[in-house]
Amino acid sequence: MANKIETDILIIGAGPVGLFTVFEAGLLGLKCEIIDNLNKVGGQCSELYPDKPIFDIPGVPNQTAEEHIEALLEQIKPFDYGLHLDQRVDEISQLDSGSDIKKWKVTTSESKEFIAKNIFIAAGGGSFEPRRPPNILDPDKYLGKGVAYSVKKKELYKDKNLIIFGGGDSALDWTIELADITKSLTLVHRRDSFRGSPNTETQMRELVETGNVNLKTPYVIEGIQGSSKVSGVSIKNFENKKIELMDCNEILFLFGLNKKLGPIANWGLNIVDKKVSVDTEKYQTNEDGIFAVGDINDYPGKLDLILCGFHETTLAVQHAYRRCFPGERVPFGYTTSNSKLHKKLGVKVD
Ligand SMILES: Cc1cc2nc3c(=O)[nH]c(=O)nc-3n(C[C@H](O)[C@H](O)[C@H](O)COP(=O)(O)OP(=O)(O)OC[C@H]3O[C@@H](n4cnc5c(N)ncnc54)[C@H](O)[C@@H]3O)c2cc1C
Repeated sequence: MANKIETDILIIGAGPVGLFTVFEAGLLGLKCEIIDNLNKVGGQCSELYPDKPIFDIPGVPNQTAEEHIEALLEQIKPFDYGLHLDQRVDEISQLDSGSDIKKWKVTTSESKEFIAKNIFIAAGGGSFEPRRPPNILDPDKYLGKGVAYSVKKKELYKDKNLIIFGGGDSALDWTIELADITKSLTLVHRRDSFRGSPNTETQMRELVETGNVNLKTPYVIEGIQGSSKVSGVSIKNFENKKIELMDCNEILFLFGLNKKLGPIANWGLNIVDKKVSVDTEKYQTNEDGIFAVGDINDYPGKLDLILCGFHETTLAVQHAYRRCFPGERVPFGYTTSNSKLHKKLGVKVD
């Protein structure tokens, strides 16, 4: 089992509910590993509405979604957990562990393997997947060979001829950030207005004026050139339909993200309307040891709210503990009188 990470609870999804699971599990002494497809934690809160205020977190009159995620990260600091970003959980299989407790093997898109006594699916509406360019048959065949949907390492673009496609914040931000280090940078968008913040658009247009960025509007991608590696693109003018060829080594498609249920649909779980069915005692799926909490689950009366997910995962963790320590009583205690927690936090409570 070398290279495989063993854990009490493997959490799929680092949204608010996945993060709070670490806290509830930590109170019971259970170790967690979290995996998320995105390159940051926070799920919908970070990806879709970081600046919007949330008003229905109990005891917190208002907090932006970003502040909410920061507070959750602060809350779970006392506990030791592993965080694995930028990878999707693709496969789950039952392990023949030779014990009475069913264990699970989990494999990610980066080929990381985990052995978990319990799996918590906290996958929200599914994994956020980058939108592919509409007219290209199989752009993924160039992945790692000149095509990317996010910037993993800035240095990759040093002294390269880069073409960025997109018209939102991400396309504008990366145009500004990478213009300094690339040999040439072209930004291509289907229209001459941008969805990103006006301030960033102004900065991008200044770079165009000084000759640091080449702006092509209104253009769309028509094809990718190169047999084993990208060597150029063909783009079509939206108005006169003329096609132009451009040389490049790297292409970034920054068209935003789609939510997809993805591989969860293949794990043998009961799924109704793209949601995983659970009971309301343990929030367990039809598989022993696989729980579903937060927006991804469904049961009579379900509401897609953060506080509902917190309740669900608190109860599910109780059952996960029983699976880790069969026959033992689950240690129940208020956090007000949890001296172990106070010690970790360095606070004194009389
Ligand atoms: C605009 C907006 C405003 C909202 N306002 C409120 C509000 O005021 N109050 C409120 O309570 N709720 C609000 N919500 C809803 C709230 O954001 C969700 O209920 C909450 O985010 C659900 O949390 P979650 O942890 O279950 O899932 P999510 O936040 O969706 O996180 C799930 C994570 O799982 C990851 N994932 C999925 N599948 C995989 C996989 N196979 N491998 C790896 N990672 C995977 C995803 O990438 C994602 O990061 C709002 C939602 C929106 C869109």
